[in-house]
Amino acid sequence: MIKAVRGTRDLLPPDTDLWDRVETSAREVFARYNYHEIRTPIFEDTQLFSRSVGEDTDIVSKEMFTWEDKARAQSEKAQSLTLRPENTAGVVRAYIEHRLGDTGTLHKLYYIGPQFRRERPQKGRYRQFYQIGAEIIGPPSAASESPVRDAEVLEMLATLLDEVGLRDWKLQLNSVGCAADRARYNQALREALQPVVHRMDPDCQRRAETNPLRVLDCKVPEDQPIIEKLPKISEYLDEPCRLHFAQVRAMLDEVGVPYSINERMVRGLDYYTRTTFEFTHGGLGAQSAVLGGGRYDGLSESLEGPKAPGIGFAIGEDRLVLALQSQGAQPEKQLQAFVAPLGAGMNRPALKLARELRRSRVTADLGDENFRLKKSFELAEKAGARFIVIVGENEVASGQFAVKNLASGEQVQVARRELAEYLRK
Ligand code: AMP
Repeated sequence: MIKAVRGTRDLLPPDTDLWDRVETSAREVFARYNYHEIRTPIFEDTQLFSRSVGEDTDIVSKEMFTWEDKARAQSEKAQSLTLRPENTAGVVRAYIEHRLGDTGTLHKLYYIGPQFRRERPQKGRYRQFYQIGAEIIGPPSAASESPVRDAEVLEMLATLLDEVGLRDWKLQLNSVGCAADRARYNQALREALQPVVHRMDPDCQRRAETNPLRVLDCKVPEDQPIIEKLPKISEYLDEPCRLHFAQVRAMLDEVGVPYSINERMVRGLDYYTRTTFEFTHGGLGAQSAVLGGGRYDGLSESLEGPKAPGIGFAIGEDRLVLALQSQGAQPEKQLQAFVAPLGAGMNRPALKLARELRRSRVTADLGDENFRLKKSFELAEKAGARFIVIVGENEVASGQFAVKNLASGEQVQVARRELAEYLRK
C-alpha cells in the first residue's frame, strides 16, 4: 500500500472545517487592515533562499528540498530549484521583479500556502506545512521603516488570534539590531565565546563559528549556563535602533497588547533586522511557536532590489489549528437541512426542492428515494443536520412539507415558499 510520505499528511474533514474557518478569519482580518493577497510559485531558484534566509541557517544548510532541473537546451546550464521553505523571500523577489516600489506607496501583501522543510517530523513539525503570512514593504519615502508599522503588525496579530478564538497566547519581542550594531554584537559574542566554545555541543560550536548570533538559539540544556552569561544584544543596539524599539514598545503599551522581552530570541533566518517576535501557546508542547516574524530592512537590497524596508510574519497554520484543538475548538459548520425523498420517483422533485433551498443560501444535503424513512433519519443525524425535510408524493402535490427538528423532535408542516426562511432561522 502506498502511503503519504513521512512528514506530510492528509488533512481531512472535519478538521478541514477548522482550517477553513482559520483561513476565512485571517482573510477577513487582512482585508480590514487593507492587505491584499499575493500568490508566488511553490518553487524558486535556489539562490533566492541561500541569499535571503542565509547559507549558514539550518533551513538552507540542511532542510531544503533542492533538485537540478534539466537544461532545456544544450546551450543552457541546469538550474538549481528549491521548494520554498518560507514565503518572505518569494514575496520580496516579486516586489523587485514587478517594480512594486515604483508606486511610491506601501504594499501590504498576504499569502496562505504550503512550505517545505526537510526537518525531523514530530508533533507540530512537518516537512510540508502551511503558513499564513503577511508583509508590509515599500520605499523609505512611504515610511516603511516607521515603528508604527511594527506596532500595527503586532496589534493586527493580537486581533487575529483573538478573533480565531485562541486563548492565552504570549508575545515575545526582541530587537536584533541594525546592520552596523549587529556586526559589533557578533564580534562581542565571538570574543565571549572564544574561551568557552570548546565545551559546547558540536552544533552550537558550529554556530559559534559561522554565525555567533545563532548560538543564543541553541537548545542543548548543558550549554544554557554558558549562553546565559553571553553579552546582551540590548547593550549593543545603536541609538536609532534603540529608539525604534522603544517606540514600538510604547505603542504596544498604548494599545494594550501585552508582551515580554526575550533577548535570546534571534529567529532562524538571517534577513531579520531590528524588531523580531514570536507568539507562543502552551497547548503545543515543545514546538510552542504559533508564529514568528520581524523586520527585514536590508532584504530587498541583498537581492539586488531597491531599498525597501519591510516587516512581516508567518503563522504556522498546522500549529494554530493544533493549539485551537488543544483548547477544545470544534468546527461549527452545521448542515441546515437533509432533504429525504420518500418512495419511487421522488428523487426528481427532491432534487428540485434541494436546488431551490441551496439557491436560497440554505446548506442542504440530499438523500435517495431508495432509502427507507428510518435510514434517511439515520443519515440526516450522521450528517449533523438540524432539520430533515420529507419529500413524498403528498408533500409535492400539496406544496406542504413535513419538517422535523432532529434535536427537539418537533415536527411541523411548512409551505414551499416559506421553507428556506424556516430552515435558515
Ligand atoms: P519561520 O518561518 O521558521 O519563522 O516559522 C514561522 C512559523 O511557521 C513557526 O512559528 C511555526 O509555527 C511554523 N513552522 C515552521 N516550521 C514548521 C514545520 N516544519 N512544521 C510546522 N510548522 C512550522
